[in-house]
Amino acid sequence: MLGNNIQPIFILPEGTQRTSGKTAQSNNIAAAKAVAETIRTTLGPKGMDKMIVDSLGDIIVTNDGVTILKEMNVEHPAGKMIVEIAKTQEKEVGDGTTTAVVLAGEFLKEAETLLEQDIHPTVINKGYRIALNHALKVLNDLSKKVTIKDDELLLKLSMTAMTGKGVEDSKEFMAKLTVDAVKSIFDEKTNEVDLEDVKIETKAGGNILDSVLVKGIVLDKERVHPSMPKKVENANILLLDSALEIKNTEIDAKINITNPEQIQSFLEMEEKMLKNMVDKIVEKNVNVVFCQKGIDDVAQHFLSKNNILAVRRVTKSDLEKISKATGANIVSNLDSFTEKDLGFAGRVEEKFVGDENMIFVEDCKNPKSVTLLLRGSTEHVLEEVKRAVDDALGDLASALKNNFVVPGAGAVEIELSRKLKELSEKYSGREQLAIESFAKSLEVIPRTLAENSGLDPIDVITELKAAHENGKTTSGINVETGKIIDAFNEGIVEPLMVKTQALTSATEVTNMILRIDDIIISGGNEKNNNEQMPPGMNMNM
Ligand code: ADP
Ligand code: MG
Repeated sequence: MLGNNIQPIFILPEGTQRTSGKTAQSNNIAAAKAVAETIRTTLGPKGMDKMIVDSLGDIIVTNDGVTILKEMNVEHPAGKMIVEIAKTQEKEVGDGTTTAVVLAGEFLKEAETLLEQDIHPTVINKGYRIALNHALKVLNDLSKKVTIKDDELLLKLSMTAMTGKGVEDSKEFMAKLTVDAVKSIFDEKTNEVDLEDVKIETKAGGNILDSVLVKGIVLDKERVHPSMPKKVENANILLLDSALEIKNTEIDAKINITNPEQIQSFLEMEEKMLKNMVDKIVEKNVNVVFCQKGIDDVAQHFLSKNNILAVRRVTKSDLEKISKATGANIVSNLDSFTEKDLGFAGRVEEKFVGDENMIFVEDCKNPKSVTLLLRGSTEHVLEEVKRAVDDALGDLASALKNNFVVPGAGAVEIELSRKLKELSEKYSGREQLAIESFAKSLEVIPRTLAENSGLDPIDVITELKAAHENGKTTSGINVETGKIIDAFNEGIVEPLMVKTQALTSATEVTNMILRIDDIIISGGNEKNNNEQMPPGMNMNM
């Protein structure tokens, strides 16, 4: 008989970790919830900040959801999926990362309750999808039009994005800068804002209010030699991605020098070659050179003699930005470039900013290139200012992309929740429960806004719901007083896209996590796999 001698069958290599069924599900949900819980306290204008110290001891103090998640190095696979939605949110719409993650956490928490009642994940997923589709429709009804001409609304949008992000006292000023930046790069024809056209440069020292919008490119660099001109008008610009040096690392030549004359002639030879290189630049009427690599002292001398302003070790991405702004092609070989490869700017100038020099390329051929030069007392402050500005630019771009905004301060979430509860009544049984869960989950946003502001969430939510029941669909929370306000009237507005993207990706990741009933982690050749396991994935749990 076969049965007497059953041998275990191994279908997976030794060291593979496997968790399945309910355990897998609840581990995944626990990990995802833990990630969401971590950043929940940062949501909204009164959200707290996180201090993250990396392995090198560098610190980041931030309120920005996606930054925290990226720096946290989440290891659990389901946790990573949550981090992914924050990254997508950042990439697609530039803001709303915390919202997306907090929503996903709450969707899963509610789903867990349904799973405990033996409702199958497929049913939950179906209910959630019905709810999402309806929510997206309701969102459209709640939205209000915005165009590039609505300065007031754009300013409010920008201010809402930056609220609570370390620019509190200079919010209006910064909002004006971001709106000006977006207006100057807005493409009337395509109705688009290409944020690639906005360069953000930071310089520590001074005050946030010293920040400026420069119509052109600003580089955190100085000219390579002090005897070069400080300012060049009508600049013919060469962008070079090879070195102005004589170095050939590929050929390892050995030179035997036996007497002093030979040294002399060797040096003369080198000088001649460098002069030759510079001559090729001079011939083409170049008066500004941006070089990605080094520039030899001798080459510097010849460039200075020809009144050429040169900057070395410019990053590749900066070269590309200057290329876009001035119309220059990036040149690799000095033998083959022509005047057609040169770019043009009305003025290239080295200016003193803070306690260092910076290079300004202004009055460019393409006026659509601008730089926001941000100032702030310290690097840490500046980094956070930059993140606030990034969010504001992202919000402005996404609002202008589909031309709609919705009321913030918890208004849309409560209204959606209410409408979805109504919808659920049209369904029955388990599907109804799932739609109700989705509706209930949305309350996490206003509840968290209230909690993070030190308000009593139960009182606030009750009042907020009452206002919405009375038809005040744009009612939200005043986080200072706990009173109910009209979010549109108060200028608390967000792009429609931020909300649609957050809801969609939170639902998608929830559905994906719920469908998983098996976690298989291939162990490779590791001996002791428990030590390699991500936290929370331990089989002995
Ligand atoms: P996210 O990463 O999701 O953008 P934020 O920390 O920027 O997270 O918080 C966004 C939330 O804060 C939104 O729900 C928005 O409506 C709300 N919010 C922004 N400004 C205000 C305000 N002045 N009053 C109340 N809520 C606000
Ligand atoms: Mg935000």
